[in-house]
Amino acid sequence: ETTATTNFIRNIVEEDLKCGKHKTIVTRFPPEPNGYLHIGHAKSICLNFGLARDFGGRCHLRFDDTNPAKEDVEYAEAIKENVRWLGFDWGKHLYYASDYFEQLYQWAEQLIRQGDAYVEDLTADEIRAYRGTLTEPGKESPCRSRTPEENLQLFRRMRAGEFADGAKVLRAKIDMASPNLNLRDPVMYRILHTPHPHAGDKWCIYPMYDFAHGQSDSIEGITHSVCTLEFADHRPLYEWFLERLGIYQPHQYEFARLNLTYTVMSKRKLLQLVQDGDVSGWDDPRMPTLSGLRMRGYTPESIRSFCDQIGVGKSDSWIDMSILEECVRNDLNFRAPRAMAVLRPLKLVIDNYPAAMTEEFEAANHPNDPAMGSRMVPFAKEIYIEQDDFLEEPPKGFFRLAPGREVRLRYAYIVKCESVVKDEAGKIVEVHCSYDPASRGGSAPDGRKIKGTIHWVSALHAVKAEVRLYDRLFTVPNPDKGGQDFKTFINKDSLQVLDTACLEPDLAKAAPGSSYQFERQGYFHVGSLADDGRPVFNRTATLRDSWGA
Ligand code: ATP
Ligand code: MG
Ligand code: MG
Repeated sequence: ETTATTNFIRNIVEEDLKCGKHKTIVTRFPPEPNGYLHIGHAKSICLNFGLARDFGGRCHLRFDDTNPAKEDVEYAEAIKENVRWLGFDWGKHLYYASDYFEQLYQWAEQLIRQGDAYVEDLTADEIRAYRGTLTEPGKESPCRSRTPEENLQLFRRMRAGEFADGAKVLRAKIDMASPNLNLRDPVMYRILHTPHPHAGDKWCIYPMYDFAHGQSDSIEGITHSVCTLEFADHRPLYEWFLERLGIYQPHQYEFARLNLTYTVMSKRKLLQLVQDGDVSGWDDPRMPTLSGLRMRGYTPESIRSFCDQIGVGKSDSWIDMSILEECVRNDLNFRAPRAMAVLRPLKLVIDNYPAAMTEEFEAANHPNDPAMGSRMVPFAKEIYIEQDDFLEEPPKGFFRLAPGREVRLRYAYIVKCESVVKDEAGKIVEVHCSYDPASRGGSAPDGRKIKGTIHWVSALHAVKAEVRLYDRLFTVPNPDKGGQDFKTFINKDSLQVLDTACLEPDLAKAAPGSSYQFERQGYFHVGSLADDGRPVFNRTATLRDSWGA
């Protein structure tokens, strides 16, 4: 299924350039460095950087770092790495909202002098109680009538560190009866005796997001300030600050955030999964983070194509995880060389094949791309096949191996099952076959039909490796809904480790970051190397959507 690619913000930009409202456009991607980026952020990155790229403008990477309590340099570094990996470049336009702290402070003093801001003594709880509700106007604080001189003095003492955390805040003096709760004298500054990861220990008061964001956009000359829908209610406040300060006013536009099924996408929740050990880290291949998707084997191209496909609209909707998975399949189908790997090995012995003999078969690395070349795959008397490619009592429609039946070994020979060896518990541990020497390459000279073809790996040459199979992290499409804690719905079986997979020998040198299609099994990515240097393969996706209809 393909979604029509509509992007209403692109249309606005196009119009603004055509009518001469702007000569060039400036956008920004403004993450708070309080966690790793997820696939939802990718939508915003592709939108903002994509507009700049397509219309010859520029896109800033700006750290919206106004809350030192939750931010970290590690996160900022990871964000830079993720944006670059996704294929975008901010050039020299890397900014930090915290670099504007002094300017923001001066602007706060200006608003105080204009009578547009006051220092508040009420506690956070009292402020909340005074704010009122959607149906009830708020109540004015006694501090609202302080003179500008008094406010200025108090605000300077706040900056000087004379008050404890939470003792006072600076508020905008707007309208306690506004139908928009965001305009009921919102907090501009809070006291926080915490050093800042970027600004150091210069400050003990910090601006709120709403007092920092618009002004940062203004300083940087942003033309189109694009954010998600939940900020639509903040737009009047965004505009109020810029108007009162008399500075350049960028325009804010809101688009629908990405919601993806079978995962969660708030950094707070993702952090909880990391801290509780539900996943191995921010880059666990089951995480919807860009680092996790990368470890899983997602390519930047597949994520960009996903973002193009889902489009940019104005109403919230849910995108099914299978759409993202289909994007990586489509990309890797072109990109990934083919290989043979047996994930759950069963030994097959060819009784009439000489014990001392080995031979090699040429195998194409890609069925439709000769430029990807070929490799030689060794073959010998003992090979491994997939356990589920043999059934002692095959049901109707099973065309793989069974007693007395013939099957084609991919690239090699036709073999026929003659007998099986079982252990004491009755489990089949070996399948014995005969081979037809005249079927070299896979076809029978007498023209007899062989329906099934299976993959295999020579036992003598096999490289043993660990393969990790991943499933969705949650068992329900929307773990956030339904009033229960999202962790109730964690899928306990989302990781399966197969430590005895047998790979064709060429895969021993597979480098971290490389991807393969294991024939009949799916796409696999070398996320890391084991201690002994052997590759560890993460399954990116199965060949087909196994979740289907
Ligand atoms: P989260 O709520 O997931 O923690 P956030 O919105 O607090 O994310 P920011 O670091 O503030 O995270 O986000 C940076 C930019 O990415 C913002 O402009 C935000 O609107 C955008 N963004 C965040 N989540 C999504 C999403 N799910 N879909 C589209 N854009 C998003
Ligand atoms: Mg945010
Ligand atoms: Mg958030």
